[in-house]
Amino acid sequence: METINVKAFGTTAPEADLAAMSIERRVATPKDVEIEILYCGVCHSDLHTARNDWGGTKYPSVPGHEIVGKVTTVGSEVTKFKTGDVVGIGCIVDSCGTCESCKKNLEQYCLNGFTGTYNGKDRHLGGHTFGGYSEKVVVDESYVLNIPENLDLAAVAPLLCAGITTWSPLRHWNVKEGSKVAVIGLGGLGHMAIKLAKGLGASVTLFSRTPGKTDDAKALGADEIIISTDEAQMKSVRGKFDVIIDTVPYVHDVNPYVATLNISGTLVLVGYLGPLDPMLQTVPLIMGRKSVAASLIGGIAETQEMLDFCGKHNIVSDIEIINMQNINDAYERMLKSDVKYRFVIDMQSLKG
Ligand code: NAP
Ligand code: ZN
Repeated sequence: METINVKAFGTTAPEADLAAMSIERRVATPKDVEIEILYCGVCHSDLHTARNDWGGTKYPSVPGHEIVGKVTTVGSEVTKFKTGDVVGIGCIVDSCGTCESCKKNLEQYCLNGFTGTYNGKDRHLGGHTFGGYSEKVVVDESYVLNIPENLDLAAVAPLLCAGITTWSPLRHWNVKEGSKVAVIGLGGLGHMAIKLAKGLGASVTLFSRTPGKTDDAKALGADEIIISTDEAQMKSVRGKFDVIIDTVPYVHDVNPYVATLNISGTLVLVGYLGPLDPMLQTVPLIMGRKSVAASLIGGIAETQEMLDFCGKHNIVSDIEIINMQNINDAYERMLKSDVKYRFVIDMQSLKG
């Protein structure tokens, strides 16, 4: 298969810094769209993958799955896009298209395994996929999203992962006008969860470890902030919430949050991957028909639904724009929760 070389930024080992490198992209096939990347958001999953936190990272690793760019070439059979269109790519660039999940527009749960935008199994070139920390990406048009014209292009990028990952559970667990929602952790996912839940008409409480984030959380739309380390504050919201979106990336005790669920309420884990420690207590679940669940990103149709909703309600991410060369520093700051509330890379900087 014919390929082109493009500039990228990635890493060759878990403990190595990210640095400039060159990667191959396929030349657009008849169904493909070639995109010049303008902006790429920085997700905590990028850091987990670059540093092999979850195991299974293939090197060299080029992260990035919050991509906004401009179409530069379309294949002969492409019908939805033309050269010059502004488009988005999220976490999925391929799936089988034929299994029960794909037929239900749930490509993220493809029974044959969806292809992640990075660290996925490349169905065209073999090897693994490379993400958005690069000049260009080539993607089948079925996995390319339309970006609403009224939204700021850099601030829209984080919707492609942080947005859809919080939108999908809010929709699945039927959050609507009057719902009582809580969000755990005010980072990239957390700040989008607040904005989207508010957009759906819910009242929203933020659980945070960080008292210094109170004013920001209010400005983002939170009605109430509970400092999770303060027992009295935690007690004040016992039995309150219909849905809790838990975005914490590392192991933590979920039991104190279960106590804040209403009867039949659901706590949805979207951050931490791994065994819970301390263990989950079942008595409070049984005594209140409560659930602890989890959720992965969202399908392509649902991602478009979320983007259109954001277009209509003028919702974007709060961002800090960085140059590609500052990514290692950005990762360190993300680990310290020192970001308001998503880094977005201006990909022009990769050209310099
Ligand atoms: P982020 O911007 O770093 O935000 C995480 C927030 O969690 C922090 O701002 C902090 O908020 C809180 N936090 C961090 N460390 C903590 C700890 N040790 N204990 C308690 N709270 C802690 O990360 P993100 O980009 O939003 O991603 C969050 C997680 O979701 C990551 O693990 C990422 O890999 C995962 N993710 C999952 C999906 C999915 O499909 N399920 C998709 C994308 C990302 P406070 O200071 O307010 O407490
Ligand atoms: Zn992500």
